[in-house]
Amino acid sequence: MPMLNLEYTYLTLPAAFYSYTKPLRFQSPNLLIENEALLAKLSIPPAYLSALISTNTNDKSLEVPHAFSQAYAGHQFGHFTMLGDGRALVIGEFVDDVERFDLQLKGSGPSAYARRGDGKATVKSMMREYLVSEAMDGLKIPTSRSIGVIATGETITRERQEPGAVLGRIMKSHLRVGTFEYARYFLTTEDLEALLLYAVDRLYPQCRAAENMAVQFISSVATNQFQLIAEWMRVGFIHGVMNTDNTAISGETFDYGPCAFMNQYHPNTVFSSIDTQGRYAFEQQGSIIQWNLVRLTEALLPLIDSDESRAIERAKALIQSFDQEWTERYNGVMAKKIGFPIADSISNSLVKELFTLMQLHAVDYTNTFAGLSHALPDAINPWNIPAFRAWKNSWNETAETLGYSMEERLQCMAEANPVVIPRNHIVESLLSETVQWDANPEKKQRFQEALNIWSNPYIFDAERIPWMNPPTQEEHLGHQTFCGT
Ligand code: AMP
Ligand code: MG
Repeated sequence: MPMLNLEYTYLTLPAAFYSYTKPLRFQSPNLLIENEALLAKLSIPPAYLSALISTNTNDKSLEVPHAFSQAYAGHQFGHFTMLGDGRALVIGEFVDDVERFDLQLKGSGPSAYARRGDGKATVKSMMREYLVSEAMDGLKIPTSRSIGVIATGETITRERQEPGAVLGRIMKSHLRVGTFEYARYFLTTEDLEALLLYAVDRLYPQCRAAENMAVQFISSVATNQFQLIAEWMRVGFIHGVMNTDNTAISGETFDYGPCAFMNQYHPNTVFSSIDTQGRYAFEQQGSIIQWNLVRLTEALLPLIDSDESRAIERAKALIQSFDQEWTERYNGVMAKKIGFPIADSISNSLVKELFTLMQLHAVDYTNTFAGLSHALPDAINPWNIPAFRAWKNSWNETAETLGYSMEERLQCMAEANPVVIPRNHIVESLLSETVQWDANPEKKQRFQEALNIWSNPYIFDAERIPWMNPPTQEEHLGHQTFCGT
């Protein structure tokens, strides 16, 4: 294997931020899927990851003595706890033409932070992450990217015995809100400052020149996160575990556990079996991200001002600005879904009225918006319902008064409203077939076909129509997703 040109800027942080971890090696790793296009773009050789975790090699270039797991803490479902990469490690950082990325393995064995975990992951959960993260990228939403899944050949113990796997993924950085909470509550103010400087230099270099670097940093993270969550809601995405350790400083989506896309519109939709209180329900995501950013602000308090009461004043003003900024981002994104390039009180009330109708008639989220632009088959088209027609008339009238032609609206909606999303019942059925791939290559082909369809989700054509069907009642009932990982 050619040696990857890996760097390790993270290791310039104080030693308490990481511990060295080696990936486990397996006798017969089996490459299930590999992202050829992404590997080529990043100049990572094919089968690099499976070679990295194979016992059948003496290749010195595959030794990664500086691979490390990151320490972090976090609020999980509201409760603060020490965490860390229990089953993940960063192989190294690499820089393509312009950007720096972490190359991470997940499921490759326990680290110093594994607590009682086995450090492993199931084929099913890693394939789910692969599929959904690539679909998110197709939807043009910032996300970690998956580069491959390798079955380890091991059987691991979950609710049942399950085949194990390792996922390779890349991300601009795995720093998270929980990394700052860890520094604040377990380390020194000097360590916290080192982390802030590192994060600023790596992700938000423009903050260096700010009058108050910590405040500017938090606002920059907030802006990216508000835009991200609004984009999630644009496509009906429910992350499912928006704990502060799963909130990336870079503003990328990551950690695809029990996530899913909403079918029927309802603001309280939850998929995750562990989210029994609906803390991370669809409509809650805007207030939860604000809650998480308040945790980031608290963690950075000593760096906002060395005088505590001045720091608190400044932090309060910052936190008070969150709700308005969130609302503006959200309204802006939703206005585009009805083809209005900018949000105002008129577009806001049109959107609100439409949501009320959608909830009342329990219609499909994606197909409702897709049906504003495209002539959908009758069976999946909510626009035949009289109340929807009435809404459409007032939408047309309003748009004409405001001077938004149909053509302009269609152009705007073409980028805002996907035609296909990775519907959970399809995802689950594809995942349940992965064990049959060896015997039935056509099952793997179907997985590839799904990836292709979901990589181009804004096109309306005959090929995509079968992928637009919402689940049947029966399929809908089996819709919970398990963290079972
Ligand atoms: P997640 O819900 O995937 O964000 O994980 C929450 C925390 O649990 C992280 O610190 C993970 O590293 C850790 N974790 C999850 N599964 C395992 C496992 N099988 N072994 C060790 N640590 C784990
Ligand atoms: Mg996590």
